[in-house]
Amino acid sequence: MTKEQIKDIKKLLSTPQNIVIIPHRNPDGDAIGSSLALYHFLNKAHRVTVVAPNDYPNFLKWMPSSNKVRLFDKQNKQSKKALENADLIFLLDFNALHRIGDDMQKTVEKLKTTFIMIDHHLQPDMSITPYVYSDTSICSTCQMMYHFFELLDAVNKIDSDIASCLYTGIMTDTGSFRFPSTTSTTHRIVADLIDKGANNAQIHNNVYDVNSYGKLQLLGKALSNLKVVQEYRTAYITLSQEELNAFDYQKGDTEGVVNYALSLKGVIFAAIFIEDVEQKIIKMSLRSKGSFSVNKFARAHFNGGGHDNAAGGRSEKSINDTVSYFLSLLPNYKLDLEKSDEK
Ligand code: 5GP
Ligand code: MN
Repeated sequence: MTKEQIKDIKKLLSTPQNIVIIPHRNPDGDAIGSSLALYHFLNKAHRVTVVAPNDYPNFLKWMPSSNKVRLFDKQNKQSKKALENADLIFLLDFNALHRIGDDMQKTVEKLKTTFIMIDHHLQPDMSITPYVYSDTSICSTCQMMYHFFELLDAVNKIDSDIASCLYTGIMTDTGSFRFPSTTSTTHRIVADLIDKGANNAQIHNNVYDVNSYGKLQLLGKALSNLKVVQEYRTAYITLSQEELNAFDYQKGDTEGVVNYALSLKGVIFAAIFIEDVEQKIIKMSLRSKGSFSVNKFARAHFNGGGHDNAAGGRSEKSINDTVSYFLSLLPNYKLDLEKSDEK
């Protein structure tokens, strides 16, 4: 983002505006965290609505003003009205409009208003708006939001609500500060957020220690379905709709499960395949260690994308055919998988 653009944004925000904030579909901690942080930041001087494409996991619903989030699929009229009246729309934690789902994309595409995109995913679609703050080296959109507040000379406006929201997104997108995207700057920002009122122990507790019995049983099932393909340093997990139903699956219950596959010694590529009978797709999460890019893999074969070490995709084949197809691709990547953790 250029200095000129920051000047434009400051000017725009100097008078009251109707503002809508949009996170991606199936919003995670970073998407909801950055959206609610910005909501709290702008809400004092503007009319602000967060419109999420669809619902998000219960373990994020403790976040301050979570009850103010409108869901485009369930509160359609209200959401459309807010979008149509918006003078300014923020697009947070996604890089292309298809990431908000077909229905919402159709509505948003038609709007003639100013968009600002803040995101850390690879290959952002630069045709949406000239106002793009993209940095794929930063661990989370929440960290970028902190830098955005710095650009606006407004870090002093971060209160405990904003700090808690930002802390949550940084924590969830860095796997609790362990992924390589976690830098000394991340830790400095997190330290400042704690000083500004983020209760770190409480936030970890709110997000990670609220498991239902069903979720843990489902994790047990997922782990018993874990398969390893030693030759390709790959491990994968499947969960059929029947298995999800048997353990009273709730949104968010499978988040992070793929990381167990990646935690196996010697494994550098992990996948989880989750059947969604309603959408008639297999949703996949892909993770890697080192130079093997799951973003490229997901883009090339599974209509997806994301980051180099964490990406997602989908397949319209059956779960068995999806897995077979996945396995058939591995030989093409043998060399990349072998040398992924070489420096
Ligand atoms: P997850 O596996 O946790 O759903 O997603 C991992 C990362 O990949 C996230 O940054 C997410 O935004 C991105 N991602 C997940 N699914 C898709 C997809 O279908 N398309 C694209 N472009 N990115 C995705
Ligand atoms: Mn993110």
